This record gives sequence, C-alpha cells and structure tokens, in this order.
Amino acid sequence: MTDSVVDSILKARYLREGEKDYDDICRRVAEALGENEDEIRDYYSEMLSLRFLPNSPTLMNAGTELGQLSACFTLYVGDSISEIFDAVSWGAQIHKTGGGTGYNFSNIRPEGSPVCSTDGVASGPVSFMKVFNAATEVIKQGGRRRGANMGILNVWHPDILNFIESKKNEGDIANFNISVMVNDEFMELVEAGEFDKVWIHHPNTGEDITVGAVWEGIINGIWRNGEPGVLFYDEINRKNMTPNLGSIDTTNPCGEQPLLHFESCVLGSLNLSKFIYKDVLDRKALERSTRIAVRFLDSVIEKNVFPIPQIRIATRRTRKIGLGLMGVHDALLMLKLAYDSPEGRDFCEETMAFVNEISADESHRLAAEKGAFPAFKGSVWGDYEVRNAAMTTIAPTGTISLLAGCSSGIEPVFSYAYTRKDTVQKTFEMIHPLFESELEKTLSGIGKSPSEVKDLKRKAINHVHETGTIQDLLWLPESFRRIFKTALDIDWRSHVLMQAAFQRNVHASISKTINMPESATKKDIADVLLLSWHEKIKGLTIYRTGSRQSVVLELSKRE
Ligand code: UDP
Repeated sequence: MTDSVVDSILKARYLREGEKDYDDICRRVAEALGENEDEIRDYYSEMLSLRFLPNSPTLMNAGTELGQLSACFTLYVGDSISEIFDAVSWGAQIHKTGGGTGYNFSNIRPEGSPVCSTDGVASGPVSFMKVFNAATEVIKQGGRRRGANMGILNVWHPDILNFIESKKNEGDIANFNISVMVNDEFMELVEAGEFDKVWIHHPNTGEDITVGAVWEGIINGIWRNGEPGVLFYDEINRKNMTPNLGSIDTTNPCGEQPLLHFESCVLGSLNLSKFIYKDVLDRKALERSTRIAVRFLDSVIEKNVFPIPQIRIATRRTRKIGLGLMGVHDALLMLKLAYDSPEGRDFCEETMAFVNEISADESHRLAAEKGAFPAFKGSVWGDYEVRNAAMTTIAPTGTISLLAGCSSGIEPVFSYAYTRKDTVQKTFEMIHPLFESELEKTLSGIGKSPSEVKDLKRKAINHVHETGTIQDLLWLPESFRRIFKTALDIDWRSHVLMQAAFQRNVHASISKTINMPESATKKDIADVLLLSWHEKIKGLTIYRTGSRQSVVLELSKRE
C-alpha cells in the first residue's frame, strides 16, 4: 500500500486534533483501553505492527469525548408510528458516532392494512424504510463517513415482493443494503420445485403470492444489481449462542453480525499475512495476538460510551465481540496455496478453528478473572464459563485492510493492479507487492534475462491492470497462474466453499461477496443460493460483474 493512500485515509477518518500519524492513533487507543502498563504496551504494539486492528469507530473515537467504539448495531422496529420513529432517532444517534445499524422491518403491518387510530391505511415497511434512508442521508457519521444500514424483511411478510423490488434502480434507497430473511421451509419448497404453491396470501390486495414469484424476485434482483442479499434465518438461529434470550432476526449493515435487538458488537481483525514466517504459519505468534485481541475487544465493552441505554443493557448482557481475520488471501499467496483449492480451504479452516478455540479459551480465562457474561445461564456454553457470548466474526475490513495494506477480510484479491478510488474521491494506482516480487522471481527462475524479466513484468502488470486476470497469459508458468487468481478468476462454487470453511469456525457470520462473471445466468444465481444454504452459510451477497455502474474498485487502463 502506498503511503499516500494511508495518509489520505488517516487524514479523512482517524487523526484527531494534535495527532500527526498512525503511531499517535495507536498510542491514544491503547491508552484508552489498556488497564495497566503491560496491556497498553501489548495493544499499542499489536496495532502498530499491523498484526491487529479494531474496527474504525474504535480507531476514531477511543480516548475521545465521543467514546463510541462499535461498528455494529441492530435496533428494534415496532409497528406503531412512535416505535418506528423512535428507531429512526436511535439510528441517527448511532450513525453520528460511526456505527452502522440493522433493522428487521417485518413487524410493520403490510401496505393497505387498516390503521385504527386514524381510519386510514398503512403504507407498509418499504415506505418507512425510505424515511430511515432520508434520515441517514443528512447525518454523516461523526462528520467522517455516511451511515450504513441493513434493511431486512422476512420472506413470509406479505409485502415481500415490493421489498425485493425496492432497490430495483441503482441509487434507490442508497443508504441501505437490503436482505431477505429466508427460512428452511421456503428453501425446501424451492428445492422441491414447488414454485406454483401459494406461499403467502396478501391480506389487503388479495393476491396469492407463490413460492416461484418470491424466488424469481430474489434471483432477478440479484442478477440485475446484486440486491437483495439473502440471510438464512434457521441457520442463524441454530447457531444462536443465547437462545435463552430469544431468536435472532437482524444483522448489522454488511451482514457479518447477527444480533438480538439492541445489541452492539465491536469488531477487530488479525492480519493473517503478518503471521506467515518463512513459508509457514507461526501459530505461537497467532495465539499470542489472538489472546491480546480478545482482551482488547472485551475492554471495549467496558469503556464504550453507548449511544442509548437499551444498547448498553443488551450489549453488556451478552458481551459479544467479533474477532476475525483479514489478509487471508495474502497469506495464501505467501504459502503458495490457491484460494480455490482444497488445500487452501483446509488451511483456512484449520487456522480459523485455531483462532476460534484460542478466543474461547481467552474468554474463559477472562471469565475466571472478571466473571462470565450475565446471560450465561441457558446459553450454548453449558458449564464452560466465558466472558463473551460470541467471540468471532469475519468483517469486511473495508478501511482497516487498507490501513494494514492487506487483502480485505477473507476475500480474494480483486486485481493485482488496479486504480483505487477512495471514499474521498482521490484515485491511486495500486500494484500488489507480492504479485510483483513473485512475478520477478518466477520469470528469473525460468531463465529469462534481466531485461526480458523487466519487459515481461511490465507486460503482465499492464495486462492484469486492464483485464483483471493473468490466466490468459500462457507464457507465464501454470504454477504461477494457479496461485495468482483474482476474485473473478475464482468460480462461484469455490467462493461459497471458502465461506463455508470459515463459517464452520466462526460464531457470528461472515461478510463475503460471491463474485460472478457478467455472463452468469439466473440459474447460476439460484444454484449459488441453494449451495450456500446446504453448506450452512448464514448469509451472503452475490455480485455479477458489470451489473452496477458505481463500484469502488475499478480496473482501468494505465494512463
Ligand atoms: N460500517 C458503517 N459505515 C461504513 C462502513 C462500515 O457503519 O461506511 C459498519 C457496518 O456495520 C459494517 C462494519 O462497520 O458491517 C464493519 O465494516 P468494515 O469492516 O468495512 O469497517 P472498517 O473497520 O474497515 O472501517
């Protein structure tokens, strides 16, 4: 990552008054969260070395008056006007502090239902979602970024078709990602091909909505522009860590954190590429950093200034934290494991299982020191006392991976050379450093002279910059091409299987986009959803190349 990219992000987002560089930020955050000298030193050095980074709100607000440190929130939306507008107000307060909010709108009565108090008719969940969207538009997060929202409707809500179509045109309800919460019953009917079966009867329009109409609506939307996302209600609840507190029907904006109403969660990510030494994973170092990260995130719950009392109460009851990995594809590249290979997936699954296990062990130690989370009795943890109901999550790491200079979350590298347009609209030319160095080694290794290496290297970089792939450069050895695949070279099945490999060892969920080529058919999209459901994924987003005009990452010709 070039210094100018990091500088521009630091200036736009993280530096507070009087701070000049990343070191200052690490010091402020460590001092705000560490309880003693040792903890402060550990937190500082984990962040400074880019082995571990907490989510943006912690970097922005720790040690400041605002003091709100979590990225993820879910709110309750009731069916009355006062309950709906309470949620609008809570959402605005959360956005102001840098958090993102998720809402399930299914309590809101369907469009056309009678409203007794006014003798009028209800306008339905989608019209209210537009109110939340407008409120978000005017509240910039702590003056630093625009608020993000997740809008969810259960597949059994009568307005589901209207909801699915609500983001039909690019730019509609722009401050929301939308997701349909499907259940096993619906997926089973789809799988059995029962498309003509009536799924819901709309009480006001009298319309009989079939399984096929809902399924086609979802598929068409995804094919058209990647919305809606899909969440799997039953899988989320089979893995609910605190069934004693009720079922879960909401996630945060990017889907990685299913939460009970009013819960919040702080995320943090270990940069896996920093734990590969001499072509092997240094498990000892990873264990040490994992333990420090768990303590760090638990401390956030203590120090956090919660925006409203309901959130403080719900968050302290379960003390969920979301530790995950980023730089995963970079680590695979260093180990020469292909992202789309069984070996690559096995490595990821084992590594995540290790992080998950160590996280639980550290939370267990914390429980012995400071007590288990208050809602522990009746949770899935049985007799094993832990301080946090859930410890692991895979975040998108949209900004923190840029700061760390690593691949984001568990996503494959998008392109080894590209133009980056950041959130403050500056553009940067980026070349992946591992790609460049391995390319040079590989070309020298096959006997090319230094001047040939230079020429061919430039050719390959230009090519990947323009097209996003090197798979058609047959003069590059197959062993190199097999490893240096990009998000678009990787078939959808491998994307899904990688997500599933992680999900088996993550308590919460995973932010992941299943990238598909422009030529992907609606049948392909249906197959992705069915496979994801079978693979016990909790939720996903699918994106078909070229289906939206505005994307953050762009391939473009070199100037
Ligand atoms: N988020 C948000 N606004 C944004 C980006 C992210 O509210 O512009 C929230 C949202 O809940 C998301 C979470 O932060 O799911 C984590 O996103 P990411 O990992 O990309 O954040 P980072 O810490 O890298 O900024």
